[in-house]
This record gives sequence, structure tokens and C-alpha cells, in this order.
Amino acid sequence: MEAPEPGASRGLMLVVEADAGARDLITEQLRRRYGADYDVQAEASGDAGLAALQSLGDRNVPVALVLAGARRAHDGAEEDFPGFFEQVRALYPDAKRGLLVDWGAWADPPTAHLILRLMALGRIDYYVLRPWRTPDEYFHRTITEFLLEWERATSQVRRELTVVGEAWSQRSHELRSLLVRNGVLHLFHASDSPTGRRILAEAGLSDADLPVVLFHDGRVLVDPTNAQLAEAYGVHTHLDGDADFDLIVVGAGPAGLAAAVYASSEGLRTLVIERESIGGQAGSSSLIRNYFGFARGISGAELAQRAYQQAWVLGTNFLLMQEVVGLRSETPWHVVTTAHGDEARARAVVLATGVSYRRIGVDALEALTGAGVFYGASVSEARALAGADVFVVGGANSAGQAAMHLARYARAVTLVVRGPSLAASMSQYLSDEIVAAGIRVLLHTEVVDGGGDGRLQQITLRDRGSGETSTEHADALFLLIGAEPHTTWLPPDIQRDRWGYVITGPDVTADPVIPWPLSRPPLMLETCVPGIFAVGDVRGGSVKRVASAVGEGSIVISHVHQLLSESRANVRPTRAATTDAGR
Ligand SMILES: Cc1cc2nc3c(=O)[nH]c(=O)nc-3n(C[C@H](O)[C@H](O)[C@H](O)COP(=O)(O)OP(=O)(O)OC[C@H]3O[C@@H](n4cnc5c(N)ncnc54)[C@H](O)[C@@H]3O)c2cc1C
Repeated sequence: MEAPEPGASRGLMLVVEADAGARDLITEQLRRRYGADYDVQAEASGDAGLAALQSLGDRNVPVALVLAGARRAHDGAEEDFPGFFEQVRALYPDAKRGLLVDWGAWADPPTAHLILRLMALGRIDYYVLRPWRTPDEYFHRTITEFLLEWERATSQVRRELTVVGEAWSQRSHELRSLLVRNGVLHLFHASDSPTGRRILAEAGLSDADLPVVLFHDGRVLVDPTNAQLAEAYGVHTHLDGDADFDLIVVGAGPAGLAAAVYASSEGLRTLVIERESIGGQAGSSSLIRNYFGFARGISGAELAQRAYQQAWVLGTNFLLMQEVVGLRSETPWHVVTTAHGDEARARAVVLATGVSYRRIGVDALEALTGAGVFYGASVSEARALAGADVFVVGGANSAGQAAMHLARYARAVTLVVRGPSLAASMSQYLSDEIVAAGIRVLLHTEVVDGGGDGRLQQITLRDRGSGETSTEHADALFLLIGAEPHTTWLPPDIQRDRWGYVITGPDVTADPVIPWPLSRPPLMLETCVPGIFAVGDVRGGSVKRVASAVGEGSIVISHVHQLLSESRANVRPTRAATTDAGR
């Protein structure tokens, strides 16, 4: 949809409540607090609410928030207006959706079940406690958080940047994705839209210049590289000045950012080098539900921005849009080289380069990531999938464990495996458990399509032998089709396991083939090259979670302190120390 121009109609909040007293109270609270900036409308039923949304859509009115009350059905179960939230999402994908419940209702099992189910299926953003006093700041805290998220996600106000490009061009998409993942608010206009054409004409540009980025202060970048865009935004992409640090962190995902926060807070002069965007994989997660302390989840980009700002105010130096391509040791220094030719050195280096989950490569399913399609095990969703039809794709132990866990809650679990058997990729005990648990296993099968109205509702399976396809109802699809660590650039001295993950700590000395040059054993997160550490997903045996990446990133700083005090005390080498890690 073409983004409205600044000054377009005000955002609207819709309240759908069957109970007239509750409806009036909520409407009044909203009008009093937000009436200067938002319109508030109330309806008494799901049908009336949907009709109102249709009509608002016809008039291009932006809807910021839809709150609908849970009501008790005849059988005593608590339910929303059936099908209501799915249709709201289809009509207004950006509107925040809240289920209104009474204070204390979480102790009521049917209400608790309804909240968990709607959250797990992505039908609501969160539950909202009906206000019961004036002012009710808990109610307003949820509402203002919703409004901030809606404002960040939509294009109703003037932004720092405007991108004009072809709607379906890969580079346009890359630029926008880069901006989103780095938390930069921007507008996008397709070059063939009326606004896009007008902006190009006013700037004296043509389709040959696409994509273009326009800053609010009048600067224009024509088809910029990532580094040019970052520089123009005021982000350092080159080292200027001193290139000596106590610690260099490679990668600014959760693990690298945590290492930066703890290192800088403890007085270490720290440089973080990131090749792409702050937040790593987490930055691509629309909602992280299992990170400690964020009950209704937090977007990965938001979490990463907070961590980035925290590290920055504590004094961390950042070098962004620069890929580290070389690492060598010149005792007592470790020297990193970037693709642009910059060099920096430190006595300790933390590798936090993460992995990429293999994607399924089916656009219709990618579009539903988070709305029934999940990368990884996402066990936090499992409990709320009671009665659901769930598919897990993958033939390794991780997929098997996810299937077993989900089978405790779901109505039916199907494990979809490309290969001809589980034996080659899954432990015997696990495949035995899968059979015993009644999990359906489809061998030699792949998922080739899927879809639904705002959330996953069906998938298409293809038998790789016969080529026959079939479409099945699906409430959730968990994709565990492997991950690849970013370690191919590392020098051979830094030992990796057969999958490419960096070997650390006790695993270094457990393997007699791996050389270890010091009299002390390697520290828990240390690689086989003293002073070079690995944390987060890139480390062999790590738990692939934001919280564990953050945990390792913070723990490693105590190792760095130990290393720095050792280097002052001069730990004795047992064999010739490796000094050519960069060759
Ligand atoms: C779609 C998605 C959703 C997820 N949802 C959840 C969730 O809900 N909960 C959860 O706990 N976990 C989730 N995860 C997993 C979680 O994001 C990862 O476990 C976590 O991000 C790992 O952090 P990390 O810092 O180790 O690595 P990463 O996040 O992979 O970050 C590594 C960073 O290093 C950079 N880098 C790589 N090589 C170089 C180089 N040579 N030079 C410079 N920089 C480099 C990369 O660009 C990247 O920014 C999700 C993952 C994905 C993909």
C-alpha cells in the first residue's frame, strides 16, 4: 500500500466490547489521554467491528490499535469474537491487536488458555487489562507501547530517510532491510507510485538512478553502497585515530553486543566490528518471546538498538559495515584486517560471528514468519499450541527434539524429512521415541508452498519420489533445516569442528591433535589460540538462543581480564606459540 503523506488522517483506535459499561469506560479513558492525536471508535460486536474496519479501510483511515474483549461462551470457555483478530490482521496488518481481559483474569484457566493460544498463533500482540481506576497507568503503559510500535512500523509521519526504488528490486529490498535491522526509521515509495514519481522529479532524478535515498536535510544518495549509506547517516565505517585496543569483538549480534557492554563497563578499551547490521540474526526476528524480562516479547531490532546504545554510552567504539577478513597473531597482539584494508590490534579478540539459519526459500512461507512459521525450535510457542496441527521440518536431533516437545501439547505433529530415513541423521533413541509418541513421519518429503489469511493455515507437501503434491491444514510450521557458521574466513590455526563451529575450552585439550601452547588449560570460551575467544552461535556446542549468546558474551569478559593479567605476569608457553594465525 502506498504510504500516506505527512498530514494524512489521524490514527484511529477501535474498541470492540459487548458490555456497554466496559466499552464506555475504555473509550473514555482512550479519548481523554490520546484524543488530541488519535480518533477513538467503539463497537459492540465482532461483526460491527469488522464492518467498521472495512469502512475505515475504504476511506484510507490508518488504524493504530484494535482492542477486543474476551467474552464467556455458553459452555463456560473464554473466547474472543471468533475469527475476529485474524480478519483484523488481514485488513490492517500493522494495527496492534490487544485482547481485553479483566484484572486478575489470568488466574482463570479458560482466559489464561485463550491468551496463550492467541499469542502463540500470532493473533494478538498482547492482552490488555481493562482499566479499573482512573488514571490506570498500567493500562496506559500497554497502550503507549502499542502506539510506539505502530508508529515505528508505519509511515504516518515524516522520517529521517526516504527510499525510492522499484518495489520488487532486490537492492531496494536489501537497503530497506538494512535500515529496518539497524533501527533507522524511513519511508519507502515505489518508483512507479505517484509519490515516488513526484519525489524523483523534484530531485531531478530518473529511473536510471534507482534506488535513491533522500535525507530530510536535502542530501540525496544515488544507488549507495551499504557503507556509503552508513557514512551519510553518521556511522563510522573506517578507523580514524588509534587502532590499539584491549579487546576487539568481531560481530555485533547479541553475543558481541553483550561482550561490548560488559567490556566497556569494566574499563576495557573495546572495538566492535560488524559487517552488516546491529543485532545479527536476532535483528531479523520480529518478536523474541523468550528473552528474559520482556513478557510480551521484544523485536530483535529493538533489543539490539538498546544494547548498541548501552555499549556506545559506556564507551565502546564501533566500526560498522566492515567485514573482518583476516586475523593474525604478532605476540602479544592479535591483528584483525577488514575487507576495506583497515587494521586494528588488541591483546584479546572475541569471535561472535554467529550463524545463518538455512531458509526454506518459499516466499509464501517467508511472509508468514512469526505468524505460524518459525525458524528454530521456538519451544516457547509449544504450550499454547494445544489442539493445533503442527509440522516440523528437519531430520536431525534438533528437529526430533522439537517434535517430541510439541507433541506434548499439539493435536497432531508431523515430522517432514527430505531423506529416505531418520537413521542417518537422528539418534536411534530419539527416532524410537518419535514412533512411540505417535508422531507422523513423512520421509522423502519437502514443503513446497503454504499460505493463509494473515497467518499460516495450510502447507503444500511434495513427495520427492513420485513428485505428487498434497495440501494439508497447518497451524504452525517449525523449520529446523540447519545452520551454517560464519567461520570460513578464519585462519586454519583456529580449529573448528566438522561443521565449521569454533572449538573452545575443554574441547581444545580433549582432542590430542589440536595444539595448545600454554601450561595452563584453555579458558572456557578460549579457542586453541590463546587470547582469541569464541562466543554465541559460532561456538561449537553453544545453545542457539539470544539469552545464551548474551550470557557467553558477558562471561567471556572475565576470561579477557584473566588473560590480560596473565599477559602482564607472562604465562610460560609449553610449545612454540602459534604466531602465524593470519596466514
Ligand atoms: C528468524 C530468527 C528468529 C530467532 N528467534 C529467536 C528467538 O525468538 N529467541 C531466541 O532465543 N533466539 C532466536 N533466534 C536465534 C538467535 O537470534 C541467535 O541464537 C542469536 O542471534 C545468536 O547471537 P550471536 O551474536 O551469537 O550471532 P548472530 O546473531 O548470528 O550475530 C553474528 C553477527 O556477526 C556478524 N559477522 C559475521 N561474520 C562477520 C565478519 N567476518 N566480520 C564482521 N561481522 C561479521 C554478522 O553480520 C552478525 O551480525 C532466532 C534466529 C533467527 C534467524
